[in-house]
Amino acid sequence: TGFSDLQEVEFSDLEEKLCTPEQKHPKPDASALVFGKYFTDHMLEVPWSLDKGWGKPIISPIHDLKIHPAAKVLHYAIELFEGMKAYRGEDGRLRFFRPDRNMARMLSTAKRSSLPSFDANEMIECMKRLIQVEREWIPHSTTSSLYMRPTFIATDPSLGVASPNQALLYVILCPVGPYFSSGFKPISLMADPQYVRSWPGGCGALKMGANYAPTIYIQKQSELLGHQQVLWLYGEDHQLTEVGTMNIFVFLKNKNGERELITPPLNGLILPGVTRLSLLELAHEWKEFKVVERCITMAEVVEAHEEHRLLEIFGAGTACVVCPVSCVSYQGKEYTIPSTEESLSQRFYKTMSDIFYGRVQHPWAVIV
Ligand code: PMP
Repeated sequence: TGFSDLQEVEFSDLEEKLCTPEQKHPKPDASALVFGKYFTDHMLEVPWSLDKGWGKPIISPIHDLKIHPAAKVLHYAIELFEGMKAYRGEDGRLRFFRPDRNMARMLSTAKRSSLPSFDANEMIECMKRLIQVEREWIPHSTTSSLYMRPTFIATDPSLGVASPNQALLYVILCPVGPYFSSGFKPISLMADPQYVRSWPGGCGALKMGANYAPTIYIQKQSELLGHQQVLWLYGEDHQLTEVGTMNIFVFLKNKNGERELITPPLNGLILPGVTRLSLLELAHEWKEFKVVERCITMAEVVEAHEEHRLLEIFGAGTACVVCPVSCVSYQGKEYTIPSTEESLSQRFYKTMSDIFYGRVQHPWAVIV
């Protein structure tokens, strides 16, 4: 809207300036991969300007950006990002997990950030090409993957809180090793209602950098108290919203004795996770227990815990797929969450991994 006469992003315009063999970096050992530390040899960039629209997409050797010190991203945080993954299947084929979902979320964040819209399918084609160029960076292991970080920044060199006239969309890639190197490692959470991540009318449902900076200090507080992550609460009734940078799931027996999987609804307070959506769709397909998207409060969790009806709590996100919770610290008490061998989180992990690595064919895993 408003940009319709201008140039669109087009995969057919993609230019490639690939590394010479000497410019290529050595690939770290899959076991040594620390998340977000190693980058592949190339990046994808697509410039945008208000008067011309989108420029030609280009894949070139990864390099530093040159931006003016007045660039709006540096002052008003006009910035957003995505996190998605590509996998090398057991059959050797490369698969991209639900890229349409990440692009839809990127477009909704762009709208609220005053950044321009683009054609999601053309962008996905450009990203697929980048994956092909970097295919040797995807570890030959069915516990590893290639993390993709599309980023969108406002670059015009002018102060003034206003929508940008210039922007840059780029994509960088990181090979990532197994999140849990020796089986699941359940995490312990700090739930403190004095801290809030998101609020009605705000931007908590969007993936803009400005949502993340203020959470790091609180994350540190949880670590000082001996916990791994923050359980983000909201409201006077202490609703559970998210855990760290993951969506949250609670599996319990309700008062009628039925098993129920609960996750907070997309009411504007939580990020619409692609993993969250996928787990909900799988659980609906299985039809083995109730699956509900509704608000759940700490009082309800504590009551279920006391009545021995609480079965599992876990986080869900691209980085780890699922992450079991072993303990919640809330209002001076530590609540130990049961863990079982045959857990629902394990089953979700296995089912999702079968899709990622092509052990089952599934429309979510897009062949690159
Ligand atoms: N919540 C927040 C705040 C996040 O940053 C993420 C990671 N993108 C998620 C949830 C999980 O989303 P996804 O499953 O799409 O990775």
